[in-house]
This record gives sequence, structure tokens and C-alpha cells, in this order.
Amino acid sequence: MIDTHGRNINKLRVSIGEACNFSCIYCVDQIGAHQVEPHHLKFDGMLKLIELLKTHAGIEKVRLTGGEPLLFRPLPQLIQGIAELGISNIGVTSNGYLFPKLAAVLKEAGLKSVNVSLDSVDPKNFRRLARAGNLKRVLEGIESALLAGLKVKINTVVMRGENDHELNNILDYAFSREIEVRFLELMKMGPLFKKGNTAGTCSEKGNSPITPDQFVSMKEMLAEIGRRYSYNPIQAEHDSTALLFQTPQGNFGIIANESAPFCASCSRMRLTATGNLVGCLSNPQEISIRHLINASDPGKELQSLFTQSIAQKRDSTFTGSSLVMSSIGG
Ligand code: SAM
Ligand code: SF4
Repeated sequence: MIDTHGRNINKLRVSIGEACNFSCIYCVDQIGAHQVEPHHLKFDGMLKLIELLKTHAGIEKVRLTGGEPLLFRPLPQLIQGIAELGISNIGVTSNGYLFPKLAAVLKEAGLKSVNVSLDSVDPKNFRRLARAGNLKRVLEGIESALLAGLKVKINTVVMRGENDHELNNILDYAFSREIEVRFLELMKMGPLFKKGNTAGTCSEKGNSPITPDQFVSMKEMLAEIGRRYSYNPIQAEHDSTALLFQTPQGNFGIIANESAPFCASCSRMRLTATGNLVGCLSNPQEISIRHLINASDPGKELQSLFTQSIAQKRDSTFTGSSLVMSSIGG
């Protein structure tokens, strides 16, 4: 569906559950503090909503996220069901921990790509940042995904004093495996938003283990990367959220939510595990479409609700929000 700013909103990001086996310091305030909703959609309801969004709102690409999507037991069936709807562009965003077990099964079901979150290539620092899991197993997960024939990218959230000294080591690793990294500027979401928001409407103080001033800008990231690699900007796809750079060893990208916001070209809609549409990460309003699962003629109402949700999108700046990333999926 085309919005009033000319954006073709054709990508759907589905959070299939808030539960997670990690507790990354930028995502949740305390270990295990994922807000798990009791009224999650089951596999068939979720698939039905994706079908409706394809048929009536023009969704063409689906990314499954969470929480940790690999904890969702019927994930292979969900992927297969989405593929059978005629959607071939299916991706997953995962912490990678369960990929050694599931990569081949998910590929067989129709999965095309995976973005693995990897914030450190130092085993101790990895554990400190994720507050669970271990680096070895995640690297095995990446190998399993590559072996299964999945397209792999790495996502790294960059934080001052936590992992900003590791950018080039992460690139060394990624280039050695011919994988592209996307470095993400830290976003003021959930606990970080509460902690940093003195001017906004939310006065509650969050307990995030890190603070918004640990933000590292794209400019600073490039200065650090330039110490080891020579790079040039290259053209990304028109609706890409990343700015891309080429080095003699491979490419990398930066998702500069704050210093170069991509709102003007954002083509994403989000669906939560409880069946709500979220048009914009900067706007915590959710619009429920769950009741349409059993509707006899849902087309018009779905289009109207989708349009309302698109209207919540900003056209220029990302401001952060109280939405928790492990609920909304990134
Ligand atoms: N559990 C999966 C994972 O970690 O890849 C999927 C869900 S996670 C919420 C999706 C993405 O959001 C991850 O790449 C994660 O690094 C990113 N993310 C979470 N909190 C963030 C924050 N405050 N700023 C920037 N990125 C964040
Ligand atoms: Fe879990 Fe992903 Fe959040 Fe880390 S970023 S706590 S892996 S949902």
C-alpha cells in the first residue's frame, strides 16, 4: 500500500513472541525482564493475519522476529505456511543460539535469510552484554545457517564503553566468513527511553543497565573503522534502512537511526504477537486487527486499519518510544 509520502509499505515485521533466552543490556532492564503477553496468537491466527495483510494491504516481504523467534515451536510450520501464501522473501532476526539445531529445518521450510545479532566477538564481553548464552554457540549457529544455504547478515548494536572497541574485530570475523555486518546506532526504546526522556511525556525512570549517552554516532563508528579499513560509501537499495560502505575486504552497513534517520524511506509495518499493527517505532500506539481473523469479509476494514497505522509513521525523525524492543521486534 502506498502512503501519502509515496512510500510503498510492503514489508511486514512480525514479532512472534516476547520470550527470549538472552537479556541483552540494551533491550531489557533486568535479566529475564521480557514482558510476555498471556494472549499470544497461535500459529494459525498469526498465519491468517499475514495472509490478510498480503491479500488486502500488499505485503510482499516478511521478517519474523521477537523476542527470540526460534523459541516459537511451530516456527517451521509458520515459515512453510507463509511460503505457501506465495511470499518468497522470508527472513528471521535471531540471536543465533538455536540455529545449530534448527537451521536446516528452517531452510527446508522456506526461510531465505537470517540476521544474527552479534554484539561482541570476545567470549567474556559477549556474555556480559547478552547476560546469557555463549559466543561459541552463536558462532556455530552462524556456521549452521551458512551451511544450510541461508543468506546471513550480522547486526551489532554499538555502545560506548561496551563494545565500541570491537568494531574492527567484528568486521575481521565477518569478512573472513563473507558476511555483511550492519552496525546499529543505539535506539532509545523501552527502558532506555524512560531513562533518557526528560523532555517527553514519560517521566518514569527506567532501570536500563546502560544510558542513552552511551550512544555512538555513525561518524564515530566510521572514524574507528577507518583506523583499520579504508572504505567508500556505495549506493544501497532505495528502501534500505542502512547506509552501505565498501572496503577491499567486503561491505558493511550502518543503520543510523538518529544521525541519518531513514523514516522518509521506511517501508515497514509491524505486527505484534497479540495481533496489533504498529506503524512507527517512535509511536507506541497499536491498532488491533486480531478480530479480523474470523471475519467473513475483512478486506475493507483491514485496509482502513492499515491506513490508520501507516498514518502514525513519521516522515523525518526517529524520536524513540516506550515500546520495548523484545515486544516489538526491532
Ligand atoms: N532476539 C532477536 C535478536 O536479538 O536478533 C530478535 C529480536 S531483537 C529485539 C531485534 C533487533 O533489535 C536485534 O538486532 C537487536 O540488536 C535490536 N535491538 C534491540 N534493542 C535495541 C536498541 N535499544 N537499539 C538498537 N537496536 C536494538
Ligand atoms: Fe533477546 Fe534479541 Fe532482546 Fe537480545 S535483543 S534480549 S536476543 S530479544
